[in-house]
Amino acid sequence: MLSYQDRSLYADSVPLADIARKVGTPAYVYSAATIRANYRAYADALDGVPHQICFAVKANSNLAVLRLLAREGSGFDIVSGGELHRVLAAGGDPARTVYSGVGKTADEIDMAIANGIQSFNCESEAELGLIEAIAARHSKRVAFSLRVNPDVDAATHPYISTGLREHKFGIDIGEARDVYRRAAALPHLEAAGVSCHIGSQILDPTPLMEALDKVLDLARHLAADGLPIRHIDLGGGLGVAYRPEDPAPAISAYGQRLRERFAGAGFELILEPGRSIVAPAGVLLTRVLYRKRSYGKEFMVVDAAMNDLIRPSLYQSHHEIIPLRRSDRGTVVADVVGPVCESGDFLARGREMDNAAPGDLLAVCTAGAYGFVLASNYNARPRPAEVLVEDDRWRIVRERETYAGLMRGEEP
Ligand SMILES: *Cc1c(COP(=O)(O)O)cnc(C)c1O
Repeated sequence: MLSYQDRSLYADSVPLADIARKVGTPAYVYSAATIRANYRAYADALDGVPHQICFAVKANSNLAVLRLLAREGSGFDIVSGGELHRVLAAGGDPARTVYSGVGKTADEIDMAIANGIQSFNCESEAELGLIEAIAARHSKRVAFSLRVNPDVDAATHPYISTGLREHKFGIDIGEARDVYRRAAALPHLEAAGVSCHIGSQILDPTPLMEALDKVLDLARHLAADGLPIRHIDLGGGLGVAYRPEDPAPAISAYGQRLRERFAGAGFELILEPGRSIVAPAGVLLTRVLYRKRSYGKEFMVVDAAMNDLIRPSLYQSHHEIIPLRRSDRGTVVADVVGPVCESGDFLARGREMDNAAPGDLLAVCTAGAYGFVLASNYNARPRPAEVLVEDDRWRIVRERETYAGLMRGEEP
């Protein structure tokens, strides 16, 4: 997606400085070609086994991104009524939408059933009971999977690891068979699958395969019990290389391992990748406001902050930061910090980077997932604009929030 031509940084065939000049900063920029290529990498890798790719909307819920993926044939994985609303507004197919999440409300379940979603990924027996009651009101039979917790260590950041027994997610895999048996007595529910999701930013697929084997084993037992299990939902996708040297696994190699497990298994595979489809397709553009040195430490104060991109503050995550215009001025070791009044407000710490001057533009890389969606209005900062690049064209797909927009619905 990113390349230098002469000394200017391009997203596909668009100089990013053009976008920054016209749209202002901070701004998120996404490459449609990269999103498509990543989606197709999954589709190609799973060619030959029955499968469905359900993009995890929580990673990037911009309508233009969802529409682009819907047109590619993607289904969707949602975790809220708001995300269902977005999928519908973007032209996504509810019949290929699965609904995950540990705390679905009655209103959200009602809306999902009314719109005919494909399946619920259920996380508790109490939730099953509520879905049964609401499905009965609609006189519909509703498909569900139980999200089982396979007690597998995803070896990722603790906040995004979800498959260990102490986590709030899913149902103890050892108890799942009994829960399925009891659910079989509920007339408006159909046990269509088994699901799990052990975490995000997983760089070694081995724990995913370990979880899959446990889930496949359960699914075979359930099928033998006479339940109509059709699909296995293995949850999110692979991690991505935030650092150039990160050992990010190839989607094709992962697909190969999945194909081996699913060949002749008699189940459809559902995957819910988010990060690996959109993270590499996005950058956050920011402008250097000030340079300062305090107690011998270099600070680069930029106009993007933790409210725009919280990943470094929340997950200690690394994002490469590169200049929009390459220079010969060498490098500096600096903390890249924003204007928000928190010491936790940083995009990078102790980073060796371009020795940029006030006014210069920078790109914070690999920011297309869990970027804008986690943006807030902290410090009454309007959320950034979002831009989609299509080859040599680009358009604003979400206007920069205005000061009036900041106060909408509020009464003094
Ligand atoms: C977050 C999440 C995903 C997406 O995970 P990625 O690592 O972004 O691919 C998929 N499914 C569920 C249930 C999730 O919570």
